[in-house]
Amino acid sequence: MRIAGIVQDSIVDGVGLRFVVFTQGCKHRCVGCHNPQSWDLSGGTEMSTDEIITQMRKNTLTDGLTISGGEPFLQAAQCAEIAKAAHENGLNVWVYTGFEFEELVAKARNDAGIKSLLETVDVLVDGAFILAERSLSLKWRGSRNQRVIDVPKSLLYKRGVKPIALAMGYKPHHIPRVILDN
Ligand code: SF4
Repeated sequence: MRIAGIVQDSIVDGVGLRFVVFTQGCKHRCVGCHNPQSWDLSGGTEMSTDEIITQMRKNTLTDGLTISGGEPFLQAAQCAEIAKAAHENGLNVWVYTGFEFEELVAKARNDAGIKSLLETVDVLVDGAFILAERSLSLKWRGSRNQRVIDVPKSLLYKRGVKPIALAMGYKPHHIPRVILDN
């Protein structure tokens, strides 16, 4: 897969210490994007999912995996593989996407990779970055339109989107998941 980079022990990409994979390639082209060098679909570097998983497993301090971008859902099958390995290691999984949750649920009906990644994500920070909605006071996101979504609960109850409860002791990967309807 193509990646823009890996950051170990980040404290700004989700709760706790995070192992962050920045995927390469994004078509959203948000004005004011924090990472425009990640747009080029053929930029960045090639790295196998096995190599990324091995690096992730070596970091014993990590609380969770975050996949950001770029647009992770352009390489959804590979991201799902890494996310599943993270769960096997007891790590929770956050994903940042420029798509909206509802769009991804619709896309998942015809795309096995997107379906697999959606079913594995614990927390999704969704939506394009909108400069006019930018606020420095927001936690985990850059603009007000973006949402921090508890994906398993949202899929389980099928009531649309729920804001995540960022309470102490929150264990996202213990929440039951359901398979998306095809
Ligand atoms: S989705 Fe993210 S990486 Fe892509 S253009 Fe928007 S802010 Fe940049």
